[in-house]
Amino acid sequence: MTEQISFIDLKRQQKKIRNELDTAIKNVLDHGKYIMGPEVSIFENDLRDFCNSKHAITCANGTDAITMVLMAWGIGPGDAVFVPNFTYVATAEAPAQLGATPFFVDVNEDTFNMNFESFESSISDAIKLGLNPKVVIPVDLFGRPSNFEEINKVAQSKNIKVLIDAAQSFGGNYKGKCVGSIGDATTTSFFPAKPLGCYGDGGAVFTQDKSLSELLNSIRFHGKGEEKYDNVRIGINSRLDTLQAAILIEKLKIFRQELELRQKVADFYNSELSGIFNVPRIDNDFKSSWAQYTLIVENRDELQKKLNKNGIPSVVYYPKSLSQQDGYKDYPYSSSGLKISEDLAHKVLSLPMHPYIESNELEKVVKILKQT
Ligand SMILES: *Cc1c(COP(=O)(O)O)cnc(C)c1O
Repeated sequence: MTEQISFIDLKRQQKKIRNELDTAIKNVLDHGKYIMGPEVSIFENDLRDFCNSKHAITCANGTDAITMVLMAWGIGPGDAVFVPNFTYVATAEAPAQLGATPFFVDVNEDTFNMNFESFESSISDAIKLGLNPKVVIPVDLFGRPSNFEEINKVAQSKNIKVLIDAAQSFGGNYKGKCVGSIGDATTTSFFPAKPLGCYGDGGAVFTQDKSLSELLNSIRFHGKGEEKYDNVRIGINSRLDTLQAAILIEKLKIFRQELELRQKVADFYNSELSGIFNVPRIDNDFKSSWAQYTLIVENRDELQKKLNKNGIPSVVYYPKSLSQQDGYKDYPYSSSGLKISEDLAHKVLSLPMHPYIESNELEKVVKILKQT
């Protein structure tokens, strides 16, 4: 029997802080304030401090985080929201839910992130279709922050707002600035498998804009006004559970250390695999949170089978680009095409990545990969 390596190992993390988690959960059970209890605002303060953001508003999940920002900006039918074609579906689902049009933009093969030339040409494509270009959502795929300056230069000149989908990149940084402190708004997710995950669903929005933060505070609570049963706008029900906030407070305490451990895993993979495989490209100005470590390979099926036979899990994020999904194939896309994102769907392979992977496990992964 070969021993199975975990793709993401949440048990080892839990073991490390189990006592703190038990106490935190017990405290919530004791005070009984399950909705918007004191832990929620404590965690929001901790989040703000962590990434140097003026405001942090938690919510029920990372998808709602995107939806709430779009709602605050009044996005709806007739509006184009530019999204990378290679991402998790939630990025496009949020604008689609609001009746806006997700508009697919191609990505860069070496960074997996939005290609800004494709974005720029998509703006006039959208106008030709009679849409109003309103928002661009760069996604920090696999943990690598987007090149904010490039995207923002184009966006600003066209009066388009930038919403960064940092569901995978919280903890990363760009030019020394933490993810969460740049852009008009940044959203993240605390889904268990994300770099900072809870034990259920959770999400947050970061912004430097006080009036946006006040709007979001109302939107996440049924559009509340000053009083609880005063509803001044149409909102949604999207709050972070007190229990999840209590868990996240403890997890955030070890998060910096975990990011360093993730970086060490990535460094090891890079040093062993570059030259043999196409390894992720992270330029000097960027620090990834290493949500995933993803290779581009030609013989994916064969490689995956071999890893599997040796007890090594690997995952394809994502087997289809958005334009190839039945639910999304009718939305418009860049007139320069989506070749890179559609190709990537056939070539990407993510390797085991988490802070507590042991060196003998890493050595095994690399040894099997090198046997091809
Ligand atoms: C996970 C994820 C989301 C959605 O987060 P949920 O908390 O699962 O709703 C959005 N965008 C990207 C890129 C993601 O990876």
